[in-house]
Amino acid sequence: MDGLIVRGARLWQGPVADIAIAGGRIAAIGRELPAHAGSDTLEARGCLVMPGLVDGHAHLDKTLWGTPWHSHRAGPTLLERIDNERRVLGELGLSPQRQSARLLRHLVARGTTHVRTHVDVGPDMQLAHLHGVQAMCEAHREFIDVQIVAFPQTGVMRQPGTLDLLDQAALDGAQVIGGLDPIGVDNDPHGQLNAIFAIAERRGCGIDIHLHDRGETGAATIEMIAERTRALGLAGRVALSHAFCLGMLEPARLDAIVALLRDNDIAVMTHAPSGGTPFPPIRLLAERGVRLFTGSDGVRDCWSPLNTGDMLERAYLLAYLSGFRDDAGLELALTMATHGGAQVMGAEGYGLDVGCAADLVVVQAENAAEAVAMHPLRRWVIKRGRVVARDGSAKLPALD
Ligand SMILES: [Zn+2]
Repeated sequence: MDGLIVRGARLWQGPVADIAIAGGRIAAIGRELPAHAGSDTLEARGCLVMPGLVDGHAHLDKTLWGTPWHSHRAGPTLLERIDNERRVLGELGLSPQRQSARLLRHLVARGTTHVRTHVDVGPDMQLAHLHGVQAMCEAHREFIDVQIVAFPQTGVMRQPGTLDLLDQAALDGAQVIGGLDPIGVDNDPHGQLNAIFAIAERRGCGIDIHLHDRGETGAATIEMIAERTRALGLAGRVALSHAFCLGMLEPARLDAIVALLRDNDIAVMTHAPSGGTPFPPIRLLAERGVRLFTGSDGVRDCWSPLNTGDMLERAYLLAYLSGFRDDAGLELALTMATHGGAQVMGAEGYGLDVGCAADLVVVQAENAAEAVAMHPLRRWVIKRGRVVARDGSAKLPALD
């Protein structure tokens, strides 16, 4: 196939137009573009076309996807859930390589063209998960772009040896260094933050910290993160995942913390947690200029059976739990599942303009608000100019 034309779809935030694709990029946008010999045409009248969906926070290595139903039995606290996961994964003996491949293929079918995945690094598995996921990313590179966060799921300072492993992970190709509740898990915020910021600075990595700690504990942690971001000149390279505390602060305290996030260009990821867990007030953060993105978090894993890996559905959940009903709110949720994540990942050529990478999703919807509200089947998913999924099924070679 020499090229592709997506004919007659409405562009998100644009007119109804044809999109001509050549060499993996958007070559032209206009009305009634000529079809060149050898090019394929997708008749997409009545559809919406948007850039590829971006899952900014996944855990590919730990999904139970493709295995028999796992009844959730984990306890209510973070540390109980961490211990439960270690026990269950040990009993099941699943391959992180195979599991990540299974989930990657599902994400492609749902229109995800970019994913940031946190991969467990720690004394028990060492770098085995990292190397397994890297192998699968390489095998699927034509279908989806993956960015890896080396993630210390069991803590940093409380697990001797973890820092050396995180450093080695960066040398082995992890693009981002993770962290985890410097107070709640490690009870040593200066120790954990100094150490992971030092690795990021030394190895040229970004930082993405899981911050579940609530209320003032979380807020104080954000102050410490902002201080280090400023001191090391890492503005635009640091993200907070979850940041439940932002949904719990008094207005004046929230104002001060939000200003720190904006001034240091620290991005915030929320996946809109269930069960009344507080989460960041996303419209307020967006209005104040804080960069926002979203992700699936664990899909069908030991933490929850409920996340599906569908980023249009995730945008719907963000809107639903935030109480958005207006089109602007629905579009904000979709922006978090597209441009927001792409910016955080530094995705090259992302967008819907001529010259952008031809990473596109086409759905039956009148506009973006309807796409979020209905999160319909993905008619076509296009990655680097090739159709990689059609009507919800990925077109990938079979797994061994
Ligand atoms: Zn996570």
